[in-house]
This record gives sequence, structure tokens and C-alpha cells, in this order.
Amino acid sequence: MTAKNRKFPLPLSSLENKSSNRAQQSTSSLLSVATPQTATQNVRQHEVRNDEASIKNSLPHNVLQHATSTRGGGSAEVTAEHRNESHHKMVNVPIISDAPRRAMVARLVKQGVRDEVVLAAMGAVPRHQFIESGLSGQAYIDASLPIGHQQTISQPYIVARMIEIMRNGRVLSNVLEIGTGCGYQAAVLAQLSENVYSIERIKLLHELAKKNLRSLRIANLRLHYGDGMHGLPQVAPFDGIILAAAGMQIPTALLQQLAIGGRLIAPVGEKQQVLQLIERTGNADWTRSVLEECYFVPLCSGII
Ligand code: SAH
Repeated sequence: MTAKNRKFPLPLSSLENKSSNRAQQSTSSLLSVATPQTATQNVRQHEVRNDEASIKNSLPHNVLQHATSTRGGGSAEVTAEHRNESHHKMVNVPIISDAPRRAMVARLVKQGVRDEVVLAAMGAVPRHQFIESGLSGQAYIDASLPIGHQQTISQPYIVARMIEIMRNGRVLSNVLEIGTGCGYQAAVLAQLSENVYSIERIKLLHELAKKNLRSLRIANLRLHYGDGMHGLPQVAPFDGIILAAAGMQIPTALLQQLAIGGRLIAPVGEKQQVLQLIERTGNADWTRSVLEECYFVPLCSGII
């Protein structure tokens, strides 16, 4: 399912034909259709190097202490516990109880997420702070939840999985997210990239994200209000771009703003969606891989 060395724009018809059989089998649930089975398949397809050396070499600046202390052969639960010991250093907010988040990280491991740096970031960000109080009891279950304006905070599995694929064991310096929503994924990204930019087209959600993020004091994250389809040419190129909303195709501006060697991950499609991974291999060359099925809110143009 990999189309190598194709020039963009790629014809969507080829993608639709390839994925239609699988997509027809998908559940009609409004939550993501990702399952432990698809997670396992994807781990096999996109094996992430997680040996000691690669973890050490790929440590981002702000999880360095933590990841060094968690390498080695402990169980998932032990690793998750250690991970949270350093939580307060990273985001500096009071935590009522770390147990549900530790359980979430342990579940991500079971679902096939292998990248220690991503797991550390997921263990560090208080997801309950991004969810309205009436729903915060569900903050750590594996589901997307409403955030208002007909939008959702993404399911933890899909957040971790997409970031793992985008990161691919690299140290990231410049990452762009399209679709800030409540700001959760942006906060996770800021744990593992030197600079993160996130764009939201709905003014009230942009404001909500600012409010949610204020107490976390994340200095390397910048929020923009605007149409993410245009990207942010003034701070491009990006070594990672992640879309939190699904379009019928990936905007050309975003492909152009990807650094050579960079990775973009995005849901593509309307009712039947798949995750696509784009790698820029040269000035005018990109490769595309079609990954698992997913369900995201639509990518829309313009601002409101
Ligand atoms: N990143 C969020 C998910 C937000 S849902 C999380 O942490 O869970 C996807 C978001 O994409 C919505 O808030 C929606 O308004 C936004 N969006 C859709 N099209 C967009 C566009 N063209 N530019 C910027 N944001 C967009």
C-alpha cells in the first residue's frame, strides 16, 4: 500500500480503490475504529526502533531526564510509573491522581505504541485539564470526547500512534499541528519537539486552547488562529506535520512546507477515512503510505 516517488497532487481515486474493501468492513461507531488488532498490525509494519541506543540518541530536550531513567527492561506498568515521577518537572501543574493516566499509558503499550518518548509525553500531559468538568471522569478512557463547536478531542491511542509514526525515532525541532481544538495534542507534541506551532480555524476553540494551556506554561508551543490549510510558511520547513482533521486530500501548501526527510501524517477521506503518511524524499518528491482506518472531524477551509 505504498506509493513511492510519486509527485503531488496524488490522485485520490487510487487511495479510495485500495482502501474501499477494508473501509466497508469498518464499524459505524463515531469513535475511532482503531483496535488493538490494527495497532499490532501497524507496529509490525512500522517497527519503531526502541533499543537502548536509539532511545538515548533520540531524546528530546524536555524528556531527557525521564527517558534516561526509564530505559531498560521493566514491565509496561513499571515504566509508566517511572514516567510519571518526572511529570511535575515537565508540566508543573497540580495533579489530583496520576493513576488513571498511568493506566492509560499502560494501555497504549498494550495497543502497540512502542516509542518511549511518545509514551513519556502521553504520561506527562494532564488530559483531564482539556475536557469540560462534566466529562473529566472519562478523560483517560480510550475515546474521543466532545469539546464543543461539533469538534472532539482525539482518542489517546490515535494521538500517540500518529505522533509515533510522525516522529519515527527522530529528534524533532519544528512541528506543525493543524487543528488545535482544545490544545491537548499540541501539549503532547511540545513534550517532544523543540518548537511546536498549532493552528485552529474556530476562534472560540483557539481561545479555549489558550485557556486550557495557560497553567501548563509550555514555552515552546505557539498557537495560531487561522486556516491551517495554508500552513505557516513564515516558520517552515517542518520536520513533522500532523493533521487532526480529515480532508479529501492533503493541502499542497503543507506538502511544500515539509522539510526534506520530514514526515506528515493525516487522516484522509470523508465517511471512510484512512491515515496517510507522507515522507518528503526530495525537493519535488514525496512518498505516501496508507495506514489504518480512522475517524476524524472534517478539515474545513476558512475561519469562523
Ligand atoms: N488536536 C485536537 C483535536 C481537535 S479536533 C486534540 O488535541 O484532540 C480537530 C480540529 O481541527 C477542530 O478543532 C477543527 O476546528 C480544526 N480544523 C478543521 N479544519 C481546520 C483548518 N483548515 N485549519 C485549522 N483547524 C482546522
